[in-house]
Amino acid sequence: MTRWDRDHHLHPWAGVEGVGKDEYMRVNTGEGIYLWDSAGKRYIDGPGGMWCVQIGYGREEMAKAIAEQTMQMPYASPWSFTSEPAAVLARKLAEMAPGDLNTVHFTTGGSTAVDTALRAVQFMNNRLGRPEKKIILSREKAYHGSTYLASTMTGKERFKTQFDKADDLVHFLPDINPYGRPEDMSLEDWCDAKLADMEAAIAEVGADKIAAFIAEPILCSGGIIVPPPGYHKRTLDLCHKHDILYISDEVVTGFGRMGHWFASEPVFDIVPDIITCAKGLTSGYIPLGACILSDRVVDQMRGNAENDTFYNGYTYSGHPVGCAAALKNIEIMEREDILGHVQRITPYFQGRLRAIGEKFDIVGDARGMGLLGCLECRPELSDETYAAHLQFGNKLDAVCEEMGLLLRPFGNMAVFSPPLIMTEAQIDEMFDIMEAGLTRLSAEYGA
Ligand code: PMP
Repeated sequence: MTRWDRDHHLHPWAGVEGVGKDEYMRVNTGEGIYLWDSAGKRYIDGPGGMWCVQIGYGREEMAKAIAEQTMQMPYASPWSFTSEPAAVLARKLAEMAPGDLNTVHFTTGGSTAVDTALRAVQFMNNRLGRPEKKIILSREKAYHGSTYLASTMTGKERFKTQFDKADDLVHFLPDINPYGRPEDMSLEDWCDAKLADMEAAIAEVGADKIAAFIAEPILCSGGIIVPPPGYHKRTLDLCHKHDILYISDEVVTGFGRMGHWFASEPVFDIVPDIITCAKGLTSGYIPLGACILSDRVVDQMRGNAENDTFYNGYTYSGHPVGCAAALKNIEIMEREDILGHVQRITPYFQGRLRAIGEKFDIVGDARGMGLLGCLECRPELSDETYAAHLQFGNKLDAVCEEMGLLLRPFGNMAVFSPPLIMTEAQIDEMFDIMEAGLTRLSAEYGA
């Protein structure tokens, strides 16, 4: 079976040369934070699927909710109908989201949620009679998805090549990673510098041409880049001063990853104009995304009597089965107080992560927030030009995989975002393997 996959399946983000050559691990079963491959070997799922399996694997309640909704009403055309799960979930998300974010447009995942947010902004400015206000400020190393518009906003070098993109719609702000700042610069000064970058971009492009700023609260695929304190609040204020909307891409940070439903508020103390979410919304049991619009945006989208149709949507918008899965997932998270659990275990998780940074010379930076972590190799020991399997992240992933832990390699970094139900003992299990892996790599690197 693995051979059929090898020969006929072009995986996402995979080399085309790999078709017919690369064999993927076939995962068979999952329970809690663990996965088992087809040979029966057990692994801790360090990446939590792709930052999404919040409540862990093997939840019968989820299977039941999905089966029941499938039997009762598997599909309802969002063009003509609504369904109970879609209606209940829309209200629930409006309650959970900060401030006046009260209107939900359901999508099929994160990329389509981001596309929807960007199209809502375009729609709004066209309707306000200012079609030239359409450039989006994004950031180097950001990841916002694989659809045309969302990938245009993606600031990762590898994603910028090989495709045509709507380059006239985006302006990238420089890297905000505090790890790269000059040695003698404080975090406060770094934050000032990042605000200055944004001010310079606004001056260069012109506020009358900039529609919105899109930002992940923490840049995740960019390598768990935690902004300096105050960054989000100050960038939001600056945006609003210039009549620029703030889109918070919470596809990863939403649904408990930071110990709250959303990171925008209360973690970063901002009420954005639009929030996008997906992944943890259903714990990955079934695809679903959402774009949540504030009343301020919706009010400005209104008022075109001749043509007020928001021509954006998907066959599977508000899919009843997806919405039923999301509701069950949220119910489980509430009943088990998973947000409280994440708040309680985060200091321990982050403590063990920081200790690794102190202990191993090959680790240049051990950073994270909530249940997100990243180990970045010391720059002197890493070389971006190496083949992937020779880079730190892949090497660490390979040695840890042997010992039963999966990580997510990104070049000279390895990141992890385990299921939120992880216990303290399981945190130890995960970091003990990581430390054993780093001990082996240290010997190899001679560090
Ligand atoms: N935004 C962010 C911040 C993401 O991390 C991702 C996916 N990793 C997306 C958008 C795209 O989501 P999807 O893959 O569900 O389309």
